[in-house]
Amino acid sequence: MRHFAVIGSGPAGFYTAEALLKIYGERCLIDLIDRLPVPYGLIRFGVAPDHQSIKAVSKRYEKVALEGHCRFLGNVHLGADVSVEELLHYYDAVVLATGAPNDRLLGIPGDQLPGVIGSAAFVGWYNGHPDFADLAPPLDGRDAVVIGNGNVALDVARILSKSPQEFGGSDIVGHALDALAGSAIRTITVLGRRGPHQIAMTPKELGELGHLNDALPMVEAADLPPAEADALLDPGQRKSVQHLRDFAAAGADAAKPKRILFDFFAKPLAVEGEERAEQLLVERTVLDPDGSARGTGETYRVPASLVVSCIGYATPAIPGVPYDEHLGRFPNQNGQVAERLYAVGWARRGPTGTIGTNRPDGFEVAEQIAALFPADSEGAGRAGGEGLDRLLRSRGCDPVAFADWQMIEAAEIAAARAGAPREKLVRVEEMLRAGGH
Ligand SMILES: Cc1cc2nc3c(=O)[nH]c(=O)nc-3n(C[C@H](O)[C@H](O)[C@H](O)COP(=O)(O)OP(=O)(O)OC[C@H]3O[C@@H](n4cnc5c(N)ncnc54)[C@H](O)[C@@H]3O)c2cc1C
Repeated sequence: MRHFAVIGSGPAGFYTAEALLKIYGERCLIDLIDRLPVPYGLIRFGVAPDHQSIKAVSKRYEKVALEGHCRFLGNVHLGADVSVEELLHYYDAVVLATGAPNDRLLGIPGDQLPGVIGSAAFVGWYNGHPDFADLAPPLDGRDAVVIGNGNVALDVARILSKSPQEFGGSDIVGHALDALAGSAIRTITVLGRRGPHQIAMTPKELGELGHLNDALPMVEAADLPPAEADALLDPGQRKSVQHLRDFAAAGADAAKPKRILFDFFAKPLAVEGEERAEQLLVERTVLDPDGSARGTGETYRVPASLVVSCIGYATPAIPGVPYDEHLGRFPNQNGQVAERLYAVGWARRGPTGTIGTNRPDGFEVAEQIAALFPADSEGAGRAGGEGLDRLLRSRGCDPVAFADWQMIEAAEIAAARAGAPREKLVRVEEMLRAGGH
């Protein structure tokens, strides 16, 4: 029998477990470990609550977890409850699928002022991540700025713009829904250092902004390159840019009280304010021939009592694991970090790509493990999960099983059907209680 530990139960962790099961079948036991008491990583706590169809991928992961040879252990924190050395002692191979949950800092003066929030925290707040349930972002001002030109920036701008009715059918948590319903924000400026051709926004997500009840997306026609230049773009990007052209061409709609303003060629220099964010000092940029943005020296100010930065994420270091401070992830050779230690997903590649991008990672690493330990070879006699269970018990650490999670999920669904706010289940203790722990 081979024993494998996969740390992190987001897409990368589940695809890795799936790939290992495909290769080893009944000749392996996999422990899928997560610091949270619930599985699925950013599927539950990142993907927008009003994009339910995307979250349906968790049904595929559920099948893996219910496979007899894969065990979910929630509420177990690698680096706090157990070390990598200990896992390598108990398991034949250890795969880090810990994602990239830390916000990259803006790194400009004023970025620590109240009102400046990273997207991991903001998105975690409206998705009920236990670490961010108490965030209480300031929604009392009229102006918000969202920094970044990717899909996360679009998610944040859309969530800030929607009316309460437009969250029907979503799984947004109650505390966020209530706060957003009382929000005073009327202008959301989406700020990007480069131009429309350089956005990392997919057409479907961008197109959605054109169909909001209360908000109108606005683009300065002067920011758009000549239409002929779109021919050089790949088809997806061309569609996205076409949405921007449509937004620029559409007239103002006085019936819609909110505005989403795209401010291209704009580099944030400082967040200014007495005791909290009040405005953003911005420098106009131009594109250099190599595609990078260069400041022109021309500056202006954008009012902002809320600043959400969507400029990327980093993987936290874990004691005993090599770490690249600059890249914010584990350095690796095709997924291998050290002997019998691997990384997949965002912990391996950094925070790019869609859910499906993580799948090949899992399969590649599973093949590397199989090259080291052929599926028909004898096991090394390691203690595997039994050893880990003993260790965790001795430390008073009480893992949450997949069956507990299923009870948590059932309780959540029942509460939602009864019309109760979902916020009741965002706190770890409450989740555990709902799981009958
Ligand atoms: C706001 C947002 C919206 C997105 N929307 C979409 C979308 O609509 N469509 C799409 O295709 N992609 C979307 N993505 C991208 C997608 O979510 C990622 O590609 C994917 O989740 C990365 O998978 P992962 O397994 O590497 O990391 P994660 O999903 O982050 O999973 C990592 C897991 O590891 C656990 N963990 C971390 N540290 C430890 C530790 N020390 N010990 C134990 N467990 C630990 C975490 O709790 C977590 O469960 C979105 C991403 C973000 C940030």
